[in-house]
Amino acid sequence: MTPASADVLSGLAKRAERAELLAPQAAAAEAPLRFAAGLYRAQRELARALASGPLSADLDEQAGPLLASAEPLLRHAVSGPPQLAEEARTRLQDDAQTARTRLLVYWSGDPEARGDYLSRALLKPWVELLAAERRRPVRDRREGTCPFCGGLPWVSARRIMPESHGAQRLLHCALCAGQWDFPRIRCASCGEADPDLLPSFQDEKHPAARIEACDTCKRYVKSIDLSLDARPIPEVDDLVSLALDLWAADQGYQRIEPGLAGI
Ligand SMILES: [Zn+2]
Ligand SMILES: [Zn+2]
Repeated sequence: MTPASADVLSGLAKRAERAELLAPQAAAAEAPLRFAAGLYRAQRELARALASGPLSADLDEQAGPLLASAEPLLRHAVSGPPQLAEEARTRLQDDAQTARTRLLVYWSGDPEARGDYLSRALLKPWVELLAAERRRPVRDRREGTCPFCGGLPWVSARRIMPESHGAQRLLHCALCAGQWDFPRIRCASCGEADPDLLPSFQDEKHPAARIEACDTCKRYVKSIDLSLDARPIPEVDDLVSLALDLWAADQGYQRIEPGLAGI
């Protein structure tokens, strides 16, 4: 295993530990955090299996080896929320061609496959391994996606930059775990830049979390403030404020890319 691959494995293990650490204090989000911890562990094992063979940047070549090691992750998903469990049971029965097609359709960016939680979960270890070796995956890039791998932003992070003025806003990719700089006053989905159309919402129970919404496209991204506390891992800590996502859905906003809870 290369040092870069070993970093990916330890990064996934750290996220599993963070989820386990937060779970007991998270009330309604305890079950999603425990599920996420198990998912990260399954992704670490999938990454380990992929790193033991030749790694291709082309999903056409990688889909076979990836699916050959997919079963433990799908079995974990059977322990998840009912709808996801049902999907996982179906996928465990898939013939090879169907399983492959599902991954390739998701990867093509087909809007119909946008909420395909299991394809995202299966592809993530592969894309993280490529990112660690700075090998760009073969994929058509679309507007508003990660400049490295074409993944969608599932969470954003804010921090105060000591050298520059004010805060920095980073979008975090749901696939490669990379981040990219993004203007604070702009919708990450449609590009709206009128501050009057970009409301943000918080509640006092979750002071570090914020809904950054857009009234033009009715989408939002969950933002985690890292200037209060540098320990959070945004994609994991996001789950603690799951209640905010439920509230946003009630208000008619849709998350640009679901977090680990699938919402
Ligand atoms: Zn990415
Ligand atoms: Zn928008």
